[in-house]
Amino acid sequence: MKLVSIFHSHPSGNHPSGVDITNMSRLQESGLKSFQFIIWTIMDSETKDLNGFMILEDEIVQIEVIIKNSK
Ligand SMILES: [Zn+2]
Repeated sequence: MKLVSIFHSHPSGNHPSGVDITNMSRLQESGLKSFQFIIWTIMDSETKDLNGFMILEDEIVQIEVIIKNSK
C-alpha cells in the first residue's frame, strides 16, 4: 500500500490555504519518499467540489481529481 493523497475540507473554497502551502512544502522538503508526489485533495464543504494539488519542481500545481467507483 502507498499513501497517495491527503484529504481535508475547507468551510468555503477548495484551494490550498497558507497553512496548507506550509505543510505541503514541509512534507516535500522532508525528503521522505512516502511524502513525495502526494496529492492534496481539498473539498469545499458547501459545494462538495474537489480540487487536487501537488508540488512539482518546487511549484504547487493543480491536477485533475477523478474518483471512480470500484464496483
Ligand atoms: Zn486546507
